[in-house]
Amino acid sequence: MATEPKQVSGEELDHDLAELLEIERFEPPAEFRERALLNDPAVYEEAARDPRAWWAKQAAELDWFEPWDTVLDDSEAPFYKWFTGGKLNVSYNCLDRHVLAGRGERVAYHWRGEEGQERDITYAELLAEVKRFASALKDQGVKKGDVVGIYLPMIPEVVVAMLACARIGAPHNVVFGGFSAEAVRERMEFSEAKALITVDGAARKGKTAPVKERVDEVMGDLATLQKIIVVRSKDVPCEMRAGRDVYYDEICAAADPECEAEPLDAEHPLYILYTSGSTAKPKGILHTTGGYLTGVSATHRYVFDLKPESDVYWCAADVGWVTGHSYIVYGPLANGATSVMWEGAPDYPNRGIWWEIVEHYGVTILYCAPTAIRACIKWGADWPNGHDLSSLRLLGTVGEPINPKAWLWYHKVIGSEQCPIVDTWWQTETGAIMITPLPGITATKPGSATQPFPGVAAQVLAESSGEPLEEGQGLLVLNGPWPSMLRTLYKEPERYIETYFKRFGSETYLVGDAARRDKDGYFWVIGRIDDVVNVSGHRLSTAEVESAIVAHPDVAEAAVIGQHDEDTGQAIVAFVTLQGDLEGDEHTVEGIRATVAERIGKFARPKRMIWTDDLPKTRSGKIMRRLLRDIAEGRALGDVTTLRDPAVMSQLEDRVKEMQAQED
Ligand code: ATP
Ligand code: MG
Repeated sequence: MATEPKQVSGEELDHDLAELLEIERFEPPAEFRERALLNDPAVYEEAARDPRAWWAKQAAELDWFEPWDTVLDDSEAPFYKWFTGGKLNVSYNCLDRHVLAGRGERVAYHWRGEEGQERDITYAELLAEVKRFASALKDQGVKKGDVVGIYLPMIPEVVVAMLACARIGAPHNVVFGGFSAEAVRERMEFSEAKALITVDGAARKGKTAPVKERVDEVMGDLATLQKIIVVRSKDVPCEMRAGRDVYYDEICAAADPECEAEPLDAEHPLYILYTSGSTAKPKGILHTTGGYLTGVSATHRYVFDLKPESDVYWCAADVGWVTGHSYIVYGPLANGATSVMWEGAPDYPNRGIWWEIVEHYGVTILYCAPTAIRACIKWGADWPNGHDLSSLRLLGTVGEPINPKAWLWYHKVIGSEQCPIVDTWWQTETGAIMITPLPGITATKPGSATQPFPGVAAQVLAESSGEPLEEGQGLLVLNGPWPSMLRTLYKEPERYIETYFKRFGSETYLVGDAARRDKDGYFWVIGRIDDVVNVSGHRLSTAEVESAIVAHPDVAEAAVIGQHDEDTGQAIVAFVTLQGDLEGDEHTVEGIRATVAERIGKFARPKRMIWTDDLPKTRSGKIMRRLLRDIAEGRALGDVTTLRDPAVMSQLEDRVKEMQAQED
């Protein structure tokens, strides 16, 4: 029975948000706190007193074939090793142990296809399929240590493929399904993948896009790639090259249904994954077995306060990103969670589909990116308001700083002011969530990821002196190693040291993000180091200016960059998307400038404002400010391989030229 959905009109909402913006801190609701897995702040002290012991306690929640003898081996720092001597298997921990404990009938995934198809997959079913496919991989000549590429859309087989690789010790290299075949080739070539698992075709908002055909166009002469395994998903005819190409269903049917999980060293490579490419050419991050699974399972359990018997958890990311690896696949399965897996986009068949899914499956925990929330704000509150979202009890965000306005919209419209929000800061490199509220303990502040997770230590260092700051803005660092950290950049060990440890030594991981600590010691990650703008000697974070612009009621989204300026060193240029079908004019410009002046100060007012229907984003939805800087400075664009929609750039280039012509 659906309850009467609450209705909030646009005007009421703006009014309410303005009022909420005055509230500084949001305490966990008493009822939530009472029932939370962690509700005693003493946990932070326990972990800080002896981080190694704390992580060892988390690792002990997993099933080990052989115990470790050393928790942390730092003899070759910054190439750290965790739980050395121990042996385990990730797929065993994600599947077998739940089935052996009698939880085989629990649903692992409620899979939902673009056209409304449904498939519930239990832990027992998933295990059976993983075993078969793992056997099939062996039959195809894939051995422990061989790299296997995975280029699949959000279909259940992508999880099967990852776990089957983990079962036999073949590191996977997943390439996000939205990437071009060229990007896949590059990654397959670089990682010398022996096999690639792909699909005949993929659903794309009601159409079917051929995938295998594209792969064939670019993969032809890649000698290292010996097998292409094709999942038949959309009845797209494929050309199959004899000796190289095989169908997933056929090799599974012929394979041994049994396949024991291989006992692997704790430091055996689990996967390679390339970063989003927001700031530079993507980096190949290497994660290993024991420490990674320890980190993702502990954070997934405590950050999301997971009650596996009753929760329905949904991470609305794509498996192709680290968020998908850690919080769609490995964390939730290690914890025996029931998850939702959605094949499609947030706006197909309509802009209410997410909320229909939440209602339909009774989702209790929703984890998504600020970019998705901003899109929902653009589309209007009527979509979520048309559904019963009362099952939700906890909300999360990841991927970018979240503007307080978007946070409050999420809190109010989606969470009915009942759900704590966990704003989780982490990176592909960190493997797991690093800075985050604990929902039963932490009072949250909109836009702040709050505090390091227990066992994690972070600091903000002054940019000039490198001294830690109690309060103020500087470089974010993580102190000391943590189990789920990257082990190296794949085949680029020097770049690993250079990027993360050169500046402050092997004990201090340089994150690459700028952050601020406030008077309560809360961390505010405010963007990349490169995204800090210097106006007349004031160092401003793009995120803060953007949040001020977005606080204007007409604005849905904004990106800010610094442009060289003769008078002020740098001047602020704002690229702004307005809500719905609004058109920007002089009046809007003045309104926005006034909002910024009021929230930050007159010096932070944008000098130029450019209206745009969309911003250049990575395929994971992050704003690519470096491309905005390129066009503003009239330079050739840098690496665009991870740019989602090239059309956005040509529109923006025209706008910038128009504006420059007007100014001249
Ligand atoms: P590249 O490293 O190739 O430039 P990327 O940094 O975007 O790409 P990811 O590892 O996917 O690749 O993203 C991690 C980054 O995302 C963080 O360093 C940070 O800048 C940003 N980020 C993630 N979560 C948050 C958050 N909750 N608040 C603020 N920023 C976040
Ligand atoms: Mg990065």
